Amino acid sequence: MRLSKYFLPILREAPREAEIASHKLMLRAGMIRQESAGIYAFLPLGLRVLNKVNAIVREEQNRAGAIEVLMPTIQSADLWRESGRYDAYGKEMLRIKDRHEREMLYGPTNEEMITEIFRAYVKSYKDLPLNLYHIQWKFRDEVRPRFGLMRGREFLMKDAYSFDVDYESAVHSYNRMFVAYLRTFARMGLKAIPMVADTGPIGGNLSHEFIILASTGESEVFCHKDYLDFEMPEEGIDFDDRAKLQGVVDRWTSLYAATSEKHDADAFGKVAGDRQVSARGIEVGHIFYFGTKYSEPMKADVTHPDGSVKPVHMGSYGIGPSRLVAASIEAFHDDAGIKWPEEIAPFNTAILNLKQGDGMTGEVCEQIYRALNAKGVDTLYHDLDERPGAKFATTDLIGIPHQVIVGPKGLANGKVEIKHRADGSREELGVDQAIAKLS
Ligand code: ATP
Ligand code: MG
Ligand code: MG
Ligand code: MG
Repeated sequence: MRLSKYFLPILREAPREAEIASHKLMLRAGMIRQESAGIYAFLPLGLRVLNKVNAIVREEQNRAGAIEVLMPTIQSADLWRESGRYDAYGKEMLRIKDRHEREMLYGPTNEEMITEIFRAYVKSYKDLPLNLYHIQWKFRDEVRPRFGLMRGREFLMKDAYSFDVDYESAVHSYNRMFVAYLRTFARMGLKAIPMVADTGPIGGNLSHEFIILASTGESEVFCHKDYLDFEMPEEGIDFDDRAKLQGVVDRWTSLYAATSEKHDADAFGKVAGDRQVSARGIEVGHIFYFGTKYSEPMKADVTHPDGSVKPVHMGSYGIGPSRLVAASIEAFHDDAGIKWPEEIAPFNTAILNLKQGDGMTGEVCEQIYRALNAKGVDTLYHDLDERPGAKFATTDLIGIPHQVIVGPKGLANGKVEIKHRADGSREELGVDQAIAKLS
């Protein structure tokens, strides 16, 4: 992409309403624009990051055996009356009426709708297990929308729903998502720790919130420090191997980790003092086994091998991709701007032409641009007529992991400079070497 042909509305200063780094930086970097409280338009740069986050989420969901669908954002109130949640949900739900005065709502989550789809088609244990997910906008009329994408009213969610014949196989479905979540966040360079979460009236211990430690997080959390050094499950892990997955889950739940709602000061007190982490955290994912809470009232039954007919066992599994974009900026930034990890960077490499209009410099920039594009490297060519200082500032602000800096001085010695945003390190290389290094 040539910057001269792109749409990147950079702001010199962060609007005053932005309180935290990620919100300020997203506005300044031209990633998002607020349209109403807690409702944002994604501008091209922001959309690129969101799409990369979604791609990782999707890949790991598919790997774990979940199947993608796409349910609508608008739902019928009647569906929610069946589960009894229409009245219970309260003011967070945006309720609307169509021209026929039918009560509709903008979905805050999809348990009811997926149960309706399931019961229409699936009747037998032979069709289980099944896990269906989608990545779709949700609306929750949050009391305090704030911090930009971190707590929006309209936000993107990946929500998966598992269906199993009994508790034992539901646990396996739960473990699949648990492992998929560990991999998903780790691939984005984030250390998300599964913490025991409240299961409400259903009880049991099958609910975990995946939390990233960050001083700006809205949750108060307590955990064992060793989790920060745990390794993520390998790519080839066999999701059908029940014992193997259980082993991963057992390890990742072996040490203390809880949010304030589930905090047990006595148990935490037994963790060695220098291993105790008491901090703030951002909830980026939440997995939950809830048994027959929806299948019972909504009559989603399946026949068992012995001929009996029983409500199907369900779980739901959420990730917030739009919140993740913000959370990763909280984790990766400095005074100059964002420092994207490669996996979710909007562009991998930026080419900085230090002397716009200089024939040789322009030619080399074009050569590098063509070569990187041909190799499939997402490249942003800063070809605007701006001073070098402004180009450095913009590229640092928007956080492109690698910068190729091309100017007449270096070219006189046949060299260009590569700067790596993550650690600020620089190296001088020949043009061909630079191309090879970046592709
Ligand atoms: P929170 O405690 O932050 O209000 P939640 O527990 O209500 O979140 P869930 O119902 O568990 O959220 O939804 C699954 C995921 O959706 C969350 O883990 C989070 O990543 C994301 N999410 C929830 N609410 C928002 C929001 N208002 N803005 C952005 N992402 C959100
Ligand atoms: Mg909430
Ligand atoms: Mg929560
Ligand atoms: Mg939650």
